[in-house]
Amino acid sequence: MDITGKQLELVNGRIKALIEAGSFYGKKLREAGISSVSTPEEFRRLPFSDKKDLREAYPLGLMSVPEERIVRIHSSSGTTGVPVIIPYTAKDVDDWAEMFKRCYETAGITAKDRIQITPGYGLWTAGIGFQYGAEKLGAMAIPMGPGNTEKQLQFMQDMGSTVICSTSSYALLLAEEIQKRGIRDNIKLRKGVIGSERWGPKMRETISNGLGIQLYDIYGLTEIYGPGIGISCDENDGIHYWDDYIYLEIVDPSTGEVLPDGQWGEVVITTLLKEGAPLIRYRTHDLSRIIPGKCRCGRCYPRIDTVTGRTDDMMKIKGVNVFPAQIEEILRDFPEVSSEYQIRISHLDGKDTMRLYVETNGTVDFVDLSKRIASTVKSRIGFTPLVKVVENGVLPRSEKKTARVIDERYD
Ligand code: ZN
Repeated sequence: MDITGKQLELVNGRIKALIEAGSFYGKKLREAGISSVSTPEEFRRLPFSDKKDLREAYPLGLMSVPEERIVRIHSSSGTTGVPVIIPYTAKDVDDWAEMFKRCYETAGITAKDRIQITPGYGLWTAGIGFQYGAEKLGAMAIPMGPGNTEKQLQFMQDMGSTVICSTSSYALLLAEEIQKRGIRDNIKLRKGVIGSERWGPKMRETISNGLGIQLYDIYGLTEIYGPGIGISCDENDGIHYWDDYIYLEIVDPSTGEVLPDGQWGEVVITTLLKEGAPLIRYRTHDLSRIIPGKCRCGRCYPRIDTVTGRTDDMMKIKGVNVFPAQIEEILRDFPEVSSEYQIRISHLDGKDTMRLYVETNGTVDFVDLSKRIASTVKSRIGFTPLVKVVENGVLPRSEKKTARVIDERYD
């Protein structure tokens, strides 16, 4: 989806602020002699920013307004030790709450709801994002924070919470505890806003049935405000994101080239309005695709697919980038195979080979099925895998997608 004229205008405002502030990106632009962009092509030539740049700016190098305008910082930890600090102006905080309010509204949540918030409060953006959005909406926030399941369940019943905000694993735990205690009849929950983790359709169904609620996927990352920059709708067909606040591209993770709508790649985000720490073409390392066409719900906000992993999951086979999510998508078109699969990549006789194991029941012609899957992979991704069909129940079960890919090339 090309960047619009209106979005370009906003980007130019951010470029100006970054150059004036002289932060890492401002310096990059100055070195490249760029002071504005006027076409989608020019925009696509802007340099990327990455988490490494943000770490190097520690502690306050990202600050792009005079300090008296900063009202808060948040931080994402990361695994390497040096945290990333994101400064927010009052307007940034308000914009974030506005986006979050829109998320709640998209999920059909109203001022009459009582929203129990279980993500953590503190340096990171989770709990407080859910909180400000709920207040902006006019709903009643119940700021529990994480853990203490006993108290969570007590409040859930006594306060008559109608919405639960949590990670998928905590929602699953709550569903199990509620069932164990036989208190389902005392629970008034009707919706769940679930963020921050990958989860499969099976887990989704268990939570949804266990709590008797409708679930929505919320998307976001601390570097770009926090959770709340997008959410799934009742159609449960991808995540609407707010293109009046962010511009989103999908790029090939190895070449950085922008990919056409529909193709899987890395999510790259540009903030259009952020003041405290604007980011241009920030590489999230999240893996998704833009879903072409309009959503059945009628909303005009564009959609990305559920984030199915990190770009680190990418496999390069015979020079072609492949993601587990692409294989899954193809397998979904074959109703005769189960949801389990395994990918093994090896290097034989100087060539990369992908073996794809799928399961089906005994009534299906294995040879014919394997040929049909192989030719679909060839036509959609560009190489032919060796497809091995096995009986249902033979493959190991795992909730984690990455465990399904075994790369034997570097053993
Ligand atoms: Zn929709």
